[in-house]
Amino acid sequence: MSGPQQITILGATGSIGLSTLDVVARHPALYQVFALTGYSRLDELLALCIRHTPQYAVVPDQVVARKLQDDLAAAGLDTRVLVGEGGLCEVAADPRVDAVMAAIVGAAGLRPTLAAVEAGKKVLLANKEALVMSGALFMQAVRQNGAVLLPIDSEHNAIFQCLPGDFARGLGAVGVRRIMLTASGGPFRETPLEQLQNVTPEQACAHPVWSMGRKISVDSATMMNKGLELIEACWLFDARPDQVEVVIHPQSVIHSLVDYVDGSVLAQLGNPDMRTPIANALAWPARVDSGVAPLDLFRIGQLDFQAPDEERFPCLRLARQAAEAGGSAPAMLNAANEVAVAAFLDGRIRYLEIAGIIEEVLDHEPVTAVEGLEAVFAADAKARLLAGQWLERHGR
Ligand code: NAD
Ligand code: MG
Repeated sequence: MSGPQQITILGATGSIGLSTLDVVARHPALYQVFALTGYSRLDELLALCIRHTPQYAVVPDQVVARKLQDDLAAAGLDTRVLVGEGGLCEVAADPRVDAVMAAIVGAAGLRPTLAAVEAGKKVLLANKEALVMSGALFMQAVRQNGAVLLPIDSEHNAIFQCLPGDFARGLGAVGVRRIMLTASGGPFRETPLEQLQNVTPEQACAHPVWSMGRKISVDSATMMNKGLELIEACWLFDARPDQVEVVIHPQSVIHSLVDYVDGSVLAQLGNPDMRTPIANALAWPARVDSGVAPLDLFRIGQLDFQAPDEERFPCLRLARQAAEAGGSAPAMLNAANEVAVAAFLDGRIRYLEIAGIIEEVLDHEPVTAVEGLEAVFAADAKARLLAGQWLERHGR
C-alpha cells in the first residue's frame, strides 16, 4: 500500500475516539485521518479537526453543520462537513478509506458500521451494541463483502490475539475448549446489596480501573457490559454461550483467556489502557507503539479471580438468557438497556430498576426470528416502546 492508511473515526469525540486519535497521531507516516464524526461536544470536534485536518467531519444536523463549516473556514481548513446518518455512512464507505473505527455508542452506530462492512473495509469494532443487535446479519455481511473485522473491546482483542489465525474453521477444529472473558466487577463489586438501591450515576460512572463513556460505565457497574460482551464473543468467534465463561478479575491486567483441550490456557495481559487494543487492531498483523507504559508485574504483585454473582448482577443473567434465546432477544435486551441506562443517568430511575425494566421488556415479548435488518430495527423499536411505557406507568 502506498502512503499512510486513510482512517475514518466514527464517534471521534468519545473516549475510544480520542484514544484512537492519540495512537494515530503517533504514526503520521502510517495513518492519516480521513473523517471525524461527533454528536455532541462540537467545540471539541472543531478542535480535533484543527489538530488532525480530516477531509470530512460529520455532525447531527444542518444548523450545527453550518456553524462548524464557518468555524473551519475561519481556521483556514477546507474540511467538508456532512450531516446525519447519511453522512456517517458516506465517510464509513468512501472508496478512499482503508480502515474505519466504529466507536459510536449504542444502536446509533449500527447503520454506519454496517456501511463500512458492506464496503469491505478494515473495521475496528468498539461499538459492540451494533454486533449484539444484528449478530448473524452483521457476520454474514462481513463474509460476503470481504471486510476484515478486528475487535477493539479489550477482552475480544485479547481473545483474538490468543486464537490461531485460522480460528474461523471453528473453535472445536482449532482445539479450543472455552473462552474466558475477564471482568473487573465494576465499582459495586463489594458494595453491600442493600446499599445498591441508592447508588448515584456519579458513583456508577466512577469505574475503579477504566476511564470510559458514561453509558458503558453504567453497563460495567451492572455487568450488562459483560453480558453484551458475551453475546459479542459468540458472534466474533462462533462460540456457543456455554463456551464463554465470565471471570471477575478486579485488577484488569489479564484482558481475557482461551482454554485449549490440551490444558493450555493462553492469556493476553497489559495495562488497562484502550490504546493497546486500538494499536493492535490498527497495525494488525504488525505491531506499533501505542504510548502505553510497559506492564510492571512487581508493582501489581497479585492477580485475583472470582465467580460472578448473578444476584448482585442480574443483567448478566438476562444477557446470557438473551444469548441462548437468539433471534430478536439480543436486540431487545440492548434497546431496553439503552433506555433504562439513559433514564438512570438522567436521575429518573434507581440503579436496581435498570435490570427490572429489561427483564419486564424481555418477558413481555416472545422471541422472533430476525430475517433482515428491518426486523432488527423493529425489535429495537418495540423494546424502546415497552421500556418507555414502563417509565410512563411509573411516572418517570
Ligand atoms: P463515549 O460516550 O465516550 O463516545 C461516544 C461517541 O459516539 C461520541 O463521539 C458521540 O458523539 C457519538 N455519538 C453518541 N450518540 C450518537 C448518535 N446518536 N449518533 C452519532 N454519534 C453518536 O463512548 P465510548 O466510551 O467511547 O464508547 C464507544 C463505544 O465503544 C461503545 O459502544 C462502547 O461500548 C465501546 N467500548 C468502549 C470502551 C471504552 O473504554 N470507552 C471499551 C470497550 C468498548
Ligand atoms: Mg470490554
